[in-house]
Amino acid sequence: MKVNNIIIVGGGTSGWMTATTFIRLFPKKKITLIESPNIKTVGVGESTIVQFRQWLSLVRIKDEDFMKHCDASYKFTIRFTNFNKIDSGRVEYPFSKPEPIDDNRLNLWYFKKILHPETPNTDYADSFYPIMAMVNNNKVYKGKELGNFNFKTDTAFQFDATKFGLWLRDNICLPKVNHIKSNVKDIKINDEGIESLSLDNGDVIIGDLFIDCTGFKSLLLGKAMGEEFISYNDIIPNNKAWATHVNYTNKKKQLIGVTNATALKNGWVWNIPLWSKIGTGYVYSDKYTTDKKALVEFKKHLKKQKFNITEHSFINIKMRIGIHRKLFVKNVVAIGLSAGFIEPLESNGLYTVHEFLSYLTRMFERDNISQWDRDVYNYACRNTFNNWAEFVSMHYALGERDDTEYWRDNLNRNYDKEIYD
Ligand code: FAD
Repeated sequence: MKVNNIIIVGGGTSGWMTATTFIRLFPKKKITLIESPNIKTVGVGESTIVQFRQWLSLVRIKDEDFMKHCDASYKFTIRFTNFNKIDSGRVEYPFSKPEPIDDNRLNLWYFKKILHPETPNTDYADSFYPIMAMVNNNKVYKGKELGNFNFKTDTAFQFDATKFGLWLRDNICLPKVNHIKSNVKDIKINDEGIESLSLDNGDVIIGDLFIDCTGFKSLLLGKAMGEEFISYNDIIPNNKAWATHVNYTNKKKQLIGVTNATALKNGWVWNIPLWSKIGTGYVYSDKYTTDKKALVEFKKHLKKQKFNITEHSFINIKMRIGIHRKLFVKNVVAIGLSAGFIEPLESNGLYTVHEFLSYLTRMFERDNISQWDRDVYNYACRNTFNNWAEFVSMHYALGERDDTEYWRDNLNRNYDKEIYD
């Protein structure tokens, strides 16, 4: 298959990241992005991981180019609070390698913990990750090296993903990308995959490759091509979220380079300090609580932290948890939520977008895309996704919380499902 004319459907963060990647790496290809004028983007997605920097460097974007336009702050660590037991405190997961990388010394810490169980869990990160000294004092370290920490490779960003998509649109994609604001209302299929898209405005769009960035709808890959969806609901408990923003009450203390995940009765709450406000949301399972009760629990949590919440609006999101069996079928490939989603813990949503884009664009270095390319791509994406899903599921499986049915079921869940079939 020769690909010169690429059609992207969806103007969320994944749509504009896809357009940016192709514009930067293959400027001679013709790119069209079709976006609905009335279907909203998912409107969340604020915490990235360090691999995001590799994508920024691939598409030649510097920190100072986008940060102030996207409400961004730096992120050095992910903090897990009360995942082990109620009031068990926090565990830090800083980026970078431990210092020194010496198994014996790391093992000695476990002996310390066994002999002195009162040693706080935070002592591990404080002992082996020098960057924690900066994090604990709320400082941003931009020097070259601090032990094994390197600012250029070991930081990520907390930002407004919607603003980031729009920034990419306005600063990199337009006017090179043909941008059409209209709804895809009909999709014609033939033996090669998608033959054409019919739009609300009367246009009929043909192309060589169709990239589905339509979010949880998965309009092209899921609906039109009928590609099977494999749910992760038996290893990942959550399927809903309430999301909002709160204002800083003490910005000096609260604007930190830390994405915090706090376990509650039926899930966990994210706290992501952006430059001007804090992004927060409750990820839960509607098998164990109702949306109404979850909102009450979430508001109670925010009030406990003295956030003023009355004037804020809360959005409720249904998450489709799992991945399509194949992400590249005939001339259709899905990127972003349309491909799949695990849940926000460990900030893996945008990670799959840029990681899969880097796999995808590698095959465009050759002129012709073959079935072998598709098979390798599908294998690589599924493998990456499944590994992440298992990693995320461990956060629930390895805790000791048994205070609610939700947590007891996490402890007793059967984790031997074969997700590689
Ligand atoms: P969307 O934003 O849903 O965009 C879909 C696009 O398709 C829209 O432009 C829509 O108009 C268009 N569309 C739909 N139907 C049609 C049609 N018929 N015709 C034309 N256009 C159409 N990721 C992270 O990396 N970090 C996080 O902290 C994080 N937190 C998250 C929290 C939650 C609760 C959720 C649900 C997700 C989170 N994510 C996170 C994932 C992240 O939000 C997404 O990966 C990212 O926003 C990309 O979304 P998208 O572009 O794939 O889909």
